[in-house]
Amino acid sequence: MAELLYESTRGAGGKVTASQAILKGLAEDGGLFVPETIPALPMSLRELSQLSYQDTAFAVMKQFLTDFTDEELRSCITNAYDEKFDTKEIAPLKEADGSYYLELFHGSTIAFKDMALSILPYLMVTSAKKNQIKNEIVILTATSGDTGKAALAGFADVPGTKIIVFYPKDGVSPIQKKQMVTQKGANTFVVGIHGNFDDAQSGVKAMFGDKELAAELDSHGYQFSSANSINIGRLVPQVVYYVYAYGQLLKKGVITEGEEINVTVPTGNFGNILAAYYAKLMGLPIGKLICASNENKVLFDFFQTGAYDRNREFLLTSSPSMDILISSNLERLVYRIAGSDAGKDAALMKSLSETGRYEITDEMRAQLSDFCGGFASEEETAKEIKTVYENTGYVIDTHTAVASFVARSYRKTSGDRKKMVIASTASPYKFTRSVMKAIDAKYDEMEDFALVDVLSEISGTAVPAAIEEIRTAPVLHKTVCETAEMKNTVKAFLGIEA
Ligand SMILES: *Cc1c(COP(=O)(O)O)cnc(C)c1O
Repeated sequence: MAELLYESTRGAGGKVTASQAILKGLAEDGGLFVPETIPALPMSLRELSQLSYQDTAFAVMKQFLTDFTDEELRSCITNAYDEKFDTKEIAPLKEADGSYYLELFHGSTIAFKDMALSILPYLMVTSAKKNQIKNEIVILTATSGDTGKAALAGFADVPGTKIIVFYPKDGVSPIQKKQMVTQKGANTFVVGIHGNFDDAQSGVKAMFGDKELAAELDSHGYQFSSANSINIGRLVPQVVYYVYAYGQLLKKGVITEGEEINVTVPTGNFGNILAAYYAKLMGLPIGKLICASNENKVLFDFFQTGAYDRNREFLLTSSPSMDILISSNLERLVYRIAGSDAGKDAALMKSLSETGRYEITDEMRAQLSDFCGGFASEEETAKEIKTVYENTGYVIDTHTAVASFVARSYRKTSGDRKKMVIASTASPYKFTRSVMKAIDAKYDEMEDFALVDVLSEISGTAVPAAIEEIRTAPVLHKTVCETAEMKNTVKAFLGIEA
């Protein structure tokens, strides 16, 4: 197989292998790594539909990670997609109310981040070995909630790695905090900071750019890496479940081979929907890619007008993992519709960082016809949860509800009757209060774990292990620090003299 290389969307630094791109995370010029070309699916849709999740993962990821041997890739997949998931199907498809919900929340932290973060540690360790890196890899992450826990769970006890997560001490939900501070694993470190998410993020970014610190780390046998959603080691595993979902529909006879489906994705950083786009470019018959936003509808406006503008109020919603005004992965789409012109992309991104906005040309806009944007208000999101529950008994979380509402509106206004797959990105148990309140206001008076039990009753689903665990789990991480102390905290964890 010819080697597929990766290049930066901003043009500097030359080409790197897949394993080098995974180790680096971000390109040195601040751009994102993209494959030179998008590979094609390696077999017919019918053949793909016969494969297990793990074999689908192998077939798809092999096309992107060409410098991994078959044995290496198989071993990463086997280690990632195992009993950590509470179903053999890994990503089951549930039909409800005329749509197909692709449940991406059966991993250990019950949100879709597990789909990629359960394999990233193995991809990273393998990449380190392939590139003769002797240092231990230290993953540094700032989190506003979901990513931190999923990364901790993914990297816990993975040999050759340590993971340090910083979260805003008073800026995450009680369940999210409990999930993190109870994390097991001798290589895990969790720190609350006196500050908000931006402070945590800036502190981590400063450490990544600190050459002196890098040298100190190196002399102690460590180097930093990132589990951020812009890493291609997170993007590539996400392509897999779209191919798998299509295969399931084909296998069940819901669609015929080659029939187009539509996909709606609740979007924040544009990683998940970009993976669906890559699946389409590989040859998966997807008609429209419908990008669903909550009230932070910067992407809806972008698809509507061609102008990306983050100069607006940041709203806190019931779908917090989509509360984001800078969708990092959108840069990969911008680069593509600019005709892979790194100069054009770099100019737009410069404008974004300097003015908070950019506008694409009509020529670029003309290439966005595969996409369609929509959004749901808080009220519409809550109503969608109630509607789906009352029509079918199926309970969806707030993020999925945003997508579900947008898919429903799209169908109504477009008349497009293609089968609709909705990416279901979190278990309703992760956002129990918002979900239960949407179903009936009376539930808001109950206490958190009592609500969990009622949800189990009304949905007929078992309480996930991730929730059961934290009811009684002991707090293992108590470190709290000032923003200015983050660097010394990291050094102390690693046994480096301050
Ligand atoms: C991260 C997340 C999203 C947004 O996904 P992106 O890839 O950032 O667009 C949506 N829903 C949930 C539950 C998430 O955790």
